[in-house]
Amino acid sequence: MSRPTLAMIDLQALRDNFALAQSLAADSQTMPMVKANAYGHGMVEVAQALAEVAPAFGVACIEEALVLRDAGICQPILLLEGTFSADEVNTAALKGLWLMVENHVQKEAVLNADIAQPVNVWLGVDTGMHRLGFPPEDVAAVYQSLSDSRNINDQIVVASHFACAEDFASDFTDQQMATFEQAVASIASTGQDQLKTSLANSASILARPDSHRDWNRPGYLLYGASPFDHTQDNAAKLKPVMTLTSAVISVRNIDVGEKVGYSGKWCAERPSTIATIGIGYGDGYPRSAPNGTPVLVNGIECPLVGSVSMDMITVDVTDLEAVAIGDSVELWGEQLPVNRVAEHCATLGYELLTRMPLRVPRVYK
Ligand SMILES: *Cc1c(COP(=O)(O)O)cnc(C)c1O
Repeated sequence: MSRPTLAMIDLQALRDNFALAQSLAADSQTMPMVKANAYGHGMVEVAQALAEVAPAFGVACIEEALVLRDAGICQPILLLEGTFSADEVNTAALKGLWLMVENHVQKEAVLNADIAQPVNVWLGVDTGMHRLGFPPEDVAAVYQSLSDSRNINDQIVVASHFACAEDFASDFTDQQMATFEQAVASIASTGQDQLKTSLANSASILARPDSHRDWNRPGYLLYGASPFDHTQDNAAKLKPVMTLTSAVISVRNIDVGEKVGYSGKWCAERPSTIATIGIGYGDGYPRSAPNGTPVLVNGIECPLVGSVSMDMITVDVTDLEAVAIGDSVELWGEQLPVNRVAEHCATLGYELLTRMPLRVPRVYK
């Protein structure tokens, strides 16, 4: 027997979520984002599960791309943050990696590289997020210098990233799209007609068909959680991929006035039954989870009580029928959306999934 804590990863749900993204944007190519260990789900397993349908993959850095190559993934792999040193351009050329070019240092590194095969590049435009990318007024000149270079394949993709795509009350996505179209027009006006473009992340794939371009870049939606904090028709069709489960490892009854856990952060107001669960912040369950965060014990929602420990949490199961050691617990997944846990912790489901440490075995089905 082993510790009952594990993350079940439903690869069919993953494929279904990919198919949904592709069906919502039939004229776009859908590039799964598998950075950060595929948002905690296991980068190699996720890429292998999508290898037959995905035209390319997106990762943050070259180290991630090389792990995929070593695992036999043959598709182009886009480095979303581009290169961090000139020698990475050589490796990218050898390994068939695509490079984001987000600034002049990266541009010069590609232009000056001594490479036998040209590389594919994506040109990043800063349309208002102010994190990466060239100012819109510079992109025509940058595009020109890239397309003149023998180091770079003809088909350059012009790309940008949305800052507020999940916020329907904001008009910032419209502003970013307008800025993007102006930048693209400025490039086209120099006679470039090979232009390809890319904008949409999960939220805009689901809710903004007008943002779909040659390439869409879904991340979070592939893993079956909604990027929105309200219901949305397409998001409602997503299937959770990770179900984090554990089991009851101890049960006790306590009296009124008795406290539970480190620092005695919860005090019983009635005679209570406390179940101890074998999962803690060392297993990616957030230490910030307050009293009242929902936990499913035998499929029924019960409130977390007391502080989250490194290896355990405690749950008030007073209202359940007999709870016993070994009973099943779901922390998030098929029956409890990760976003609900995240709300209690003032964070995003993105963070909870992505921080899942290696101590938690991933079991693929
Ligand atoms: C991570 C990332 C995405 C995916 O964002 P989601 O909200 O997870 O869909 C898309 N584009 C870029 C540039 C990213 O870094």
